[in-house]
Amino acid sequence: MYRQGLWLIGTELVFLLLIPGILGWGSDGHYTTCKIAEDYLSEEAQAAVQQLLPASADGSLASVCSWPDDVGKKLRWSTALHYANTPDSACNYNYDRDCYDTAGNEDRCVTGAIYNYTKQLSGYQRSVIESTYNLTEALLFLSNFFGDVHQPLHIGFLGDKGGNKIQVRWYSTGTNLYRVWDEKIIQSALASFHNSDLTNLTQTIQQKIENAWSNDASSWGTCANNLTVCPDSYASESITAACNYAYANVTSGSKLGDEYFLSRLPVVEKRLAQGGVRLAATLNRIFSSNAKLVAEA
Ligand SMILES: [Zn+2]
Repeated sequence: MYRQGLWLIGTELVFLLLIPGILGWGSDGHYTTCKIAEDYLSEEAQAAVQQLLPASADGSLASVCSWPDDVGKKLRWSTALHYANTPDSACNYNYDRDCYDTAGNEDRCVTGAIYNYTKQLSGYQRSVIESTYNLTEALLFLSNFFGDVHQPLHIGFLGDKGGNKIQVRWYSTGTNLYRVWDEKIIQSALASFHNSDLTNLTQTIQQKIENAWSNDASSWGTCANNLTVCPDSYASESITAACNYAYANVTSGSKLGDEYFLSRLPVVEKRLAQGGVRLAATLNRIFSSNAKLVAEA
């Protein structure tokens, strides 16, 4: 079955007033994922990305990767596209079961949106000008959603809204489990190990991709059956990680500190790395001069 969102979308790219991001990895996580992706782009993909980036990006995909979150409150049709939920206690992802928005509209979730924007960008080879779609907007959404689908609690349980309804303490601060995974673990890592320098954290992850994880990382970007894009498998990994690490031993009121932080940080680092490597691999396929239309999913 071919899964393509049928919803109408705005085609005008309007940079609205920046609003603090509340959707997806916090801005640090999105920046890191897209910065890693930039390193693995082919020449063709790099040229296409440079052509599509808005002038305000100053040539940096990472710098505008949070744009869909920043405008999210204004573009209300897009808020459902940053995540998906599984039934409570279901530690697997099933597109037909799980990809719908709060009104029950099918295909409106993060993996449905990734299929949709991949399809739109596949028209780039024909002509940017002839495209019905705003491909700049499509690139920024796709890049943001690749980060989101790798954040374990973006594929969390429906009943607790991906951890949003589980109040916890993160060291001395009151927050919820979703925010712990979206921001707090990364922020604590920056403060504890990286002199609060995001470039340093990004370089640490890049070194792991090239060394400790290199055997696995060489296959992260491939999709089964030669598909251009395969977000459902990333969503399955996320809910599995949510069950095994995010939700594990946590209930409302839990106090999370060093033990939780140090055992979960490697999971966060690997998800940021996989999001970046896979975003690059997908953009390389989309913008390859040999690209076919997106295969049937
Ligand atoms: Zn997002």
